Amino acid sequence: MKRRILVIIASFVILIAIIAFMIIKFGSGFQKEDKITIFTTIYPEYDFAKAIVGDKMEIVRLIGPGVEIHTYEPSSKDMIRIAEADAFIYTGDDMEPWASKIIEAIEEYPVDIVDTSKNIEMIDSDEFMEEYSLLEEISHEEEHYEEEERDGHIWMNPQNAVIMIDTILEEIVKLDPENKEFYEENARKYQEEILALDKEIEETLKENHVDVLVFGGEFAYSYFCQRYNLGVVSCYTACGEHSDPSISRIKKVIEYINQNQISKIFYEELSEGQISQMISEETKADAEVFNTLHNVTQEEIENQEGYISIMRENLKKIIEKKS
Ligand SMILES: [Zn+2]
Repeated sequence: MKRRILVIIASFVILIAIIAFMIIKFGSGFQKEDKITIFTTIYPEYDFAKAIVGDKMEIVRLIGPGVEIHTYEPSSKDMIRIAEADAFIYTGDDMEPWASKIIEAIEEYPVDIVDTSKNIEMIDSDEFMEEYSLLEEISHEEEHYEEEERDGHIWMNPQNAVIMIDTILEEIVKLDPENKEFYEENARKYQEEILALDKEIEETLKENHVDVLVFGGEFAYSYFCQRYNLGVVSCYTACGEHSDPSISRIKKVIEYINQNQISKIFYEELSEGQISQMISEETKADAEVFNTLHNVTQEEIENQEGYISIMRENLKKIIEKKS
C-alpha cells in the first residue's frame, strides 16, 4: 500500500515537471513571436540592421542567399509575410524597382516603410561614365542610356553605408524606444568601424598608386570609384538588366589592359565572369571577383562575414600583386 502511494506521488512529481517544462517551452515560443520583426531586401541592410539590434529583434532577409536580386520577383507569400512584419527596409527605388509592388500590396497594413537611400546623393550613371570612364574613344551613343538612370548600389561607398545606418537606426529606435541607448551604441560602434575602413581604403589605394580599375562584369562600382577617385575601364556601364557589351567595347578594354600593363580584371560575385575570363585569356590580366555584396552565400553567412570583412577582402585583391 505504502509503495502504491509512493508510485502515485512520483507520478505526480513527474507530471508536474512535464507541465512546468511545457509552460517554459510554450512561454518562450510566445516570446519569440512577440519579437519585433523587420524585413530587409538585400545583404547590406540586413547586415547593418543586425549589427544595431543584436538579438533584440528579428531581422529577416527577404531574398535568400545566392539569389539574383535585380530580376527578383516578390511572391504573394512574401507580401503576406511582410504585411505581418513591423517594418520593411529596402535599398531604394533605383536598386529595387520591384519594391513598389510590395509597398503597394502592404499599403493598408501597419508596416513602416524605410528607404535607405533617402538621405543619399544619387549618382547618375550617364554622368558618372562621362566623367570617370577612360574609354573615351567609344562612340557617344554606346556610352549613353536611352533614359536617365541612377545607380542604386549606394552602399559601395562606405560613407553612404554610415548614412544608411543612421536611417535604419531611426526606424529601430521608433519601434523600440526603450532600448534606444543600446541601439545607438551599437550603431555608433559599427559606423566608427566603417569610417576606419573608409580611411584604410583611401590610404591603401593612394600608397599603392591605384588610380584605375578595370571591370569585365556588370558595373556596380560607381559609388566606390567616385569615393576614391578611380578611373574606370569597363565592359558594362551598369548593373542589372542591361544588354551585353559590344565586341568593339570588349576589344577596347583588351587594348587598354595590354597598353597599360593592367594585372587584374574584376567581375561581380555569384557570377561566372565569362567576359572577364575570356579577356584574361587574351591578356596578362587575372580575372577576380570584386564582391559588391548584393547577396552573400550561405557559407559567407555561416562564417559571419559582414560588410567590413568583404570590403576589406576587395581592397586586398585590388592591391595584391600578380603571383
Ligand atoms: Zn547590381
